[in-house]
Amino acid sequence: MTRVFNFSPGPATLPEAVLRKAASEMLDWNGSGMSVMEMSHRGKEFIGIHAEAESLLRELMGIPAGYKVLFMQGGAIGENAIVPMNLIGKTGSADYITTGDWSKKSMKEARTFGKINEAASSEASKFTAIPKQAEWKLDAGASYVHICSNETIGGVEYHWTPDTGSVPLVADMSSNILSRAIDVSKYGLIYAGAQKNMGPSGLTVVIVRDDLIGHALPITPSAFNYKMQAENDSMYNTPPTYAIYIAGLVFQHVKALGGMKAMEAHNKAKAAVLYDYLDDSAFFSNPVAKEDRSLMNVPFKLKDESLDEAFLKGAQARGMIQLKGHRSVGGMRASIYNAMPIEGVQALVAYMKDFEAKNA
Ligand SMILES: *Cc1c(COP(=O)(O)O)cnc(C)c1O
Repeated sequence: MTRVFNFSPGPATLPEAVLRKAASEMLDWNGSGMSVMEMSHRGKEFIGIHAEAESLLRELMGIPAGYKVLFMQGGAIGENAIVPMNLIGKTGSADYITTGDWSKKSMKEARTFGKINEAASSEASKFTAIPKQAEWKLDAGASYVHICSNETIGGVEYHWTPDTGSVPLVADMSSNILSRAIDVSKYGLIYAGAQKNMGPSGLTVVIVRDDLIGHALPITPSAFNYKMQAENDSMYNTPPTYAIYIAGLVFQHVKALGGMKAMEAHNKAKAAVLYDYLDDSAFFSNPVAKEDRSLMNVPFKLKDESLDEAFLKGAQARGMIQLKGHRSVGGMRASIYNAMPIEGVQALVAYMKDFEAKNA
């Protein structure tokens, strides 16, 4: 068996130790005589798995009392509608900061549910930076302010936490949750699809402050109503049980590695290997403002795009896959989430040096 270095933006690479553990428990979880996939979500085995996953996530992220953790479905794209349905009813309007494809998509979807104000945007600079907070035109009467903390396609990330005063800050953290320490108390709501840094697709994690629950618009489907899910421990409908189990194994793994501080150090070291080389190279380039560069998704371009196909083919031959950039921006993108080992990034840079020497 050979495992590739998988630079996919998502679903993405998972820790091998987690996959091995899941494989060893596939037919018989902990002497239960069944796979986790076959368990009743209301049985004591699964309730234990679910509770442990939640408690590990709370511990890892330092989620304060006064916040609910919901395990939902529908992905971050689902949350683009679910968030406004649950939160916008307070005042009828919300502020959105657009920094790339994902936050723009969030804003567009929210328009169905209330008055949406684009309080800041970096579209004029082709989404290569995060607009400075001083430029934001926030509305004190907004129900919330929405950001995307890491733009997976453009490779721009907030390395600071916006101050939105008494208006709750809502963040799509799909592609950088668990990548570094954050102060959850600065947010009203955090949501993330699991398939970048937490586990398989199908699970959406929502971390929501208690006072934001209970204001859903009457049109909100019950399964997407935070109050319904909070009152039913995320079991109003059948939760994505196997995805929750795998996420729990990932949380155990991350805890064993040293938690958020250790992940942050590891991710900074990894990203530096790639960015340092990109900055030295006259052949490859990254367009993002240095202070806003993502530690998770690194887009880069070849000087001559007619070499793109040859670059991808050569990478594949060396066991490095999924490096093609998003179709909206072209070029390449290396997604280097928590589970990508530094050896993967080193192998990529060694290949890039080689390719540059042969083609520059
Ligand atoms: C991947 C991603 C999404 C889309 O998630 P779905 O699971 O397809 O709904 C949304 N936002 C961000 C920031 C992402 O990285």
